[in-house]
Amino acid sequence: MSTPHVAQALRFFEINADAITEEQIRICSIPASPFGEAERAEYLSRKFSGLGLTEVEIDEEGNCLGLLRGSSQSPLMVVSAHMDTVFPKDTNFEVVRRENKLFAPGIADDGCGLVALLALAQAIQAERIPMDGSILFAGTVGEEGEGNLRGVRHLFTKGRWAKHVDAFLSFDGPGLDRITNRALGSRRYRVEVTGPGGHSWGDFGLPNPVHALGRAISRLAAYPAPKEPRTTFNVGRVEGGRSVNAIPSEAAMEVDLRSAAEMELQRLDAFFRRAMRDAVDEENAKRRAGDPLLKLKVDLIGERPTGETPADSPLVELAIEATKLLGVQPRLDQASTDSNLPISLGIPAITLGAGGTSGSSHSLDEWYDPRGRDLGLKRGLLVILGLVG
Ligand SMILES: [Zn+2]
Repeated sequence: MSTPHVAQALRFFEINADAITEEQIRICSIPASPFGEAERAEYLSRKFSGLGLTEVEIDEEGNCLGLLRGSSQSPLMVVSAHMDTVFPKDTNFEVVRRENKLFAPGIADDGCGLVALLALAQAIQAERIPMDGSILFAGTVGEEGEGNLRGVRHLFTKGRWAKHVDAFLSFDGPGLDRITNRALGSRRYRVEVTGPGGHSWGDFGLPNPVHALGRAISRLAAYPAPKEPRTTFNVGRVEGGRSVNAIPSEAAMEVDLRSAAEMELQRLDAFFRRAMRDAVDEENAKRRAGDPLLKLKVDLIGERPTGETPADSPLVELAIEATKLLGVQPRLDQASTDSNLPISLGIPAITLGAGGTSGSSHSLDEWYDPRGRDLGLKRGLLVILGLVG
């Protein structure tokens, strides 16, 4: 913090606070639904080029990448934020400003992370901070819901930078004290039950896919999920049937299973699969002789690994020290973020808040208050420079 270049860069975030917020508004006004991040990626790549990053590209998966090269390529740290939001295609992404707050879907998650990438690159460039290693800035796709971490998965397994990354830092949402070093594992399923279908009166007795799903949900809802390690399940979507007086020929649901511990996740997973089979068997057992059987299909649509970057690893210690230097008490935390993927590959990874405060995340009323954002950016800069040298 006492190095003149760095001290200047830290002041940069205070002096340019308004300009950073204006940039966040521009980024967040560009729609970015799951699998619809391209326009935002184009914008970000133009910004990367404008800031003098090299090797700027949008990769095969849709991630936007740009390298800020130090005197050597390694250590190479990926600094990322996710471009996608949870909101569907026809959402109004217009940003509304009321007093200190900005309102827009995705304004904080992860609009404040995306603008942090630009602010950090700009500060390092403007103050000409000499670095030993290099930073690969990355706007990722597919962090939320159905994305299944496809962006960061590509980056670390198939992309041209895979195998060259020494550490990973993602900015996701606001805040100052949180250091997410543990990856919260999850499994997501789509369950489909199909059958012959028929008339509600005339064919009564045929096995009913919606009834089978009801039995399945009832079984899952009775699962005694432990509080410690925290374990949760959710039937988030249910669909099926066509008419009130028709026995449906299909029913489907989407289920999210999570646990802080891999063992518990496996236990819940086994219970869930068994509950689905038993529920369909039960419905089939009630059918009339000779009626066709219901068919069950259980598809894994998302899987995020559990794991951690140890609290005594250099990256986590750096983040703890940087947080304390800014007068904030650090808090180690567990969540499901882009860091899950590098953690599962044994690459040191953490997720940090990008400063400021927010509320109503993942809802249309999502808001972000940029006051105090500079502290989040300062912390980020210290961690990055501490790692790349
Ligand atoms: Zn997020």
